[in-house]
Amino acid sequence: MKKQFLFLTFVVVLFSCKKASKEPLPEPKVLTQNVSFKDIQNVGKILSDTEPVEIMVSRTINLRDPLSIEVSGTNRMKLSCYTLKSIKNVDVFVKLTGYEERIKLLKIDSISSLTSFDLPVSIAEKDEKLYTESGKLIEVKKQTDLSKAVFSVSVDDPFYKKLNGIKTVWLLNFRKEQQDIGNWYRMNPLHARECIAMFTNLAYLFSQDAAQKAFMDYEGLIENDGSVLTKERKEAVYKDILTRPKIETGLVRNVSGLGGGNLVAGAEYVLMRHYNKSSEEEILHELGHALGFGHSSNMTYAANNKAFFLAMRPIINGFLTAHEYPYWDYRLLNTYNTYIDKTGDYLREGKNPDGSRHNATRYDY
Ligand SMILES: [Zn+2]
Repeated sequence: MKKQFLFLTFVVVLFSCKKASKEPLPEPKVLTQNVSFKDIQNVGKILSDTEPVEIMVSRTINLRDPLSIEVSGTNRMKLSCYTLKSIKNVDVFVKLTGYEERIKLLKIDSISSLTSFDLPVSIAEKDEKLYTESGKLIEVKKQTDLSKAVFSVSVDDPFYKKLNGIKTVWLLNFRKEQQDIGNWYRMNPLHARECIAMFTNLAYLFSQDAAQKAFMDYEGLIENDGSVLTKERKEAVYKDILTRPKIETGLVRNVSGLGGGNLVAGAEYVLMRHYNKSSEEEILHELGHALGFGHSSNMTYAANNKAFFLAMRPIINGFLTAHEYPYWDYRLLNTYNTYIDKTGDYLREGKNPDGSRHNATRYDY
């Protein structure tokens, strides 16, 4: 009996010893406020189905940094997340006049896709001890005026870092005029959501060295006058893709797309099926127009089986097959199941003056 008892004691001691070794070491006191997304009140949806058109067309989306932050009122900050996937590990910083470094205000565990919300700014209420970006603990005085404060975010998430790696500086907008006039249809938020996926993928594509190499190495691209694009000209065209500040998009009818200047717009089948070969060909055609090329150049239509879209196709196929694109999955937004199955032959709300459906088109998905 005694032996057994001793043995049990030994086991208990061993067990508790093992347990103790798993206890985490005491962490240094962290003053950064941690915010859990599920506790945030009044989270609004961005580009929801019922979003009014005037709000939709007022939106500007920075495709390589789609989490925006700005001052809201006198003592709050507003965050708008234009990613189509949820993101995690968001650090919020503020740069204040008179302070050398950015100051870390708080950390948010995650943010759901297409949401906006605002949060109180603690330093607008009281003095605070906070860490700077380099890790120094400093005293931050209460701020009575946030109008000059510059808020910024840093997102430690592999998906978001992929977006941050995009080289194009494109800001995406939706065309301000939204009426059923001429070749234009009114867009609705589901087109806008798919446009974020399409233009993010395009921006990602052109940001890759492999795409630039494919473009530069591709032979047989011609100018409007039929002459071959020189190496210097190709470099200038590619630079134009990477550095143009703005892309405006919209929904067209009667034609497959419209392009020129900053405008790169497509028909519904293009915006809804942008993972498809013919849609991708179409949107690169419109981008060709935006880059200044007409139909006599194969930067738009193919000529002698040579074209801009054919130069990019192997890379695009590779990115889709390898799930390399930021938004590689055509089912991501569930547009097909949610809308196309239910509405059958049309998605928009466009109507003729007599109330009948306008230019309804049936798409075979
Ligand atoms: Zn054209």
